[in-house]
Amino acid sequence: MDAGSFVQPVLKLGITPWSPQAGLVVAFLYGYSRGFWWSVTAFVVAELLIRGAPAEWWLIPVQAVCVAGIYQAAAAALRHFRIFDLPPSLKTTLHFATIAALAALTAGVVVVGSYVASAVLPASQFSDAVARYWVGDLNGILMLTPLMLNLHAIPKLIRAIGESPLAFAGVASGSIAALMIIFLIGNPEDLRFFYVLFLPALASALIWGTPGLLLTAIGLQIGLMFGVQRLPEVAPLVDLQYLMSTLVLTGLALGAVVSERGEAAKLALQREMQISEREARLARASRAATAGELASALAHELNQPMTALVGYLRASEIMMTAANPQDTRLAPTLHKAADEALRAAGILGRLRNFYAGRDPQLEEMDIGTVLKSTTESSRWRDRRENLTISFNIPAGLPAVVADRVFIEVIFANLVNNALDATREQSDALIVVSARCTGKLMEVTVDDNGPGVSPTMQSELFKTFVTSKPDGMGIGLAVSRSLAQACGCELEACGSELGGAGFRLKLPVRA
Ligand code: ADP
Repeated sequence: MDAGSFVQPVLKLGITPWSPQAGLVVAFLYGYSRGFWWSVTAFVVAELLIRGAPAEWWLIPVQAVCVAGIYQAAAAALRHFRIFDLPPSLKTTLHFATIAALAALTAGVVVVGSYVASAVLPASQFSDAVARYWVGDLNGILMLTPLMLNLHAIPKLIRAIGESPLAFAGVASGSIAALMIIFLIGNPEDLRFFYVLFLPALASALIWGTPGLLLTAIGLQIGLMFGVQRLPEVAPLVDLQYLMSTLVLTGLALGAVVSERGEAAKLALQREMQISEREARLARASRAATAGELASALAHELNQPMTALVGYLRASEIMMTAANPQDTRLAPTLHKAADEALRAAGILGRLRNFYAGRDPQLEEMDIGTVLKSTTESSRWRDRRENLTISFNIPAGLPAVVADRVFIEVIFANLVNNALDATREQSDALIVVSARCTGKLMEVTVDDNGPGVSPTMQSELFKTFVTSKPDGMGIGLAVSRSLAQACGCELEACGSELGGAGFRLKLPVRA
């Protein structure tokens, strides 16, 4: 590498405007802190092999020790800031650039200073030579150190390039075109065409992040060296190198922003997944806690269809044994019995699914039909003479979307509670109403009973809280869970009839 980059040196000394080996040494010492003597040896061997032993041969090992020491310190500083352990960010990029610039400057001052002190180089060339050394090492470190320390990113980068060959073709042809513009159209005094190199470099930073930028920058750097060797009159490499360091720094910052944004997106996704996982765990835990509730709920919810079923079957029995076995009421009664049995089975299955965490089965339904059929079996159970159940359901209501079995269970609970509440009433009245308010259907069950007792107001929807001697305190709690599970809302409201009122809000078909 030293040989390949030995371009436009100062008086044939190892002061060149491009020193990839500096980048390699820093990467090596970063990964292997005990590699100091290896670095010193590499420096000495490179100097002797490429430039031969100078008259002041002792200068070489002295410089080697100093430069290796400086880069050892730079590597320690990079490790301290954990520059390459973390995904690149603007902050780590700034730290990296500052450490690289300071290290390259110190090395430049030491190497050039030693040449000047030993009269190999005239003092007048000190600042020029330092500047050349500095930019050479700086570019070497900026381009090669992060690449060497992120070699594992290369296969991923190659895969990404394979996935977007068009982007690769664009960056490659853009780079070649930019180099041709600099060397074929530019002139020695004029570096204004350099900026076109920014286009492929920044494009690759945007598309592939830092590793993509670094590979492109190295490609451009090799192109520049090649061009300068072929057409030395076009531009002094050192001037190009200053522009190159600006390009690499801009690209590194952009690559860092791209990676930071990617990391932020990844983090946000991870957090979202964690939250939803936590929610799922919580839901599972609360379902488990309500497993006991399931047993009670089943006993509670199945009570009604079972009672109805038994009633229908008894009635059928009487009809069968009565004088006229051909009683025409027999068939419909048996049919109703079968319906109730099916309803019980439906409730059993759906409740089991609900407590097992499975989703409700949403379907469109006509709410009026559901309300009337559910009330019918409740009414059948309670044959009081002085009980009136009236419906206030306008025709032409839009369909609602919910789980049919859930709605039947909720509604049966509300009606049964109203029946219980009006038991002492001389003229019991239950009114079931439905009205559509835009996107919601509001179904209310009102009664003229005594209303919810003050002590029960805040406890209504809690499990196992009941004011009835034979109550279980399950109906409203289960009803609210079922309502929420299928996108509905259940709440208590006052009633114009003087008793209690419960309102169920269901989503209307869009
Ligand atoms: P349970 O009916 O087994 O007591 P619920 O959860 O269905 O369980 O009801 C809980 C309590 O809410 C009842 O004990 C009662 O105090 C009150 N409640 C429910 N509906 C009415 C109503 N229509 N009128 C008065 N109180 C009611």
